[in-house]
Amino acid sequence: MKRLAAICLLFSLCILQGAATAQEKEETVFFNVRSHKYHCLTCGYAQRCTANCIELLISEAKKRGGMPCKICGGTCRR
Ligand SMILES: [Zn+2]
Repeated sequence: MKRLAAICLLFSLCILQGAATAQEKEETVFFNVRSHKYHCLTCGYAQRCTANCIELLISEAKKRGGMPCKICGGTCRR
């Protein structure tokens, strides 16, 4: 019986690890091509910015000289 419990524990650890890896996948942000600020997709500023904002991966936004928004910090993951 002890052995079975150990297997169950290992199995759930694997599931947890899988979920963590999925979360580390790159985040998509709104990048303002004028101000060069990038935002979490749910940030109020991102939602107001429609004409100048494009969706980019966060690494791509940084590559283009993006600065994180002061309100949302440029990410929803904190
Ligand atoms: Zn923002």
